[in-house]
Amino acid sequence: MLLITCPVCGAVGDESEFHCGGEAHVKRPASSKPGNVSDESQYEYLYVRNNPRGPHREMWQCVRGCGKWFNAMRDTLSLQFLAFYKIGDPIPPLPGKKSATKTRTPIQGRRK
Ligand SMILES: [Zn+2]
Repeated sequence: MLLITCPVCGAVGDESEFHCGGEAHVKRPASSKPGNVSDESQYEYLYVRNNPRGPHREMWQCVRGCGKWFNAMRDTLSLQFLAFYKIGDPIPPLPGKKSATKTRTPIQGRRK
């Protein structure tokens, strides 16, 4: 069981009371004209995510409390949450990068 604390309203509950929205801080390709975004950049934005062993930042929604989205840092090996922080708050640094391996995995199969 994952024990989660909403940093917005303070609600505490297990993962059934919250909704995980996947990796946090995924950057949208920067362009004022969508036609200028390359297919590869759009593909990376939509389908490619980090899949680390160790600390990982995720988006969560407080479903049974305030309904707001927030960010959390969770260790994918121990399943322990390391930090909860509001959207817009400073991003906490990842602890001990030594044990974490960073791999990028497409959500679905490669399209080419
Ligand atoms: Zn809440």
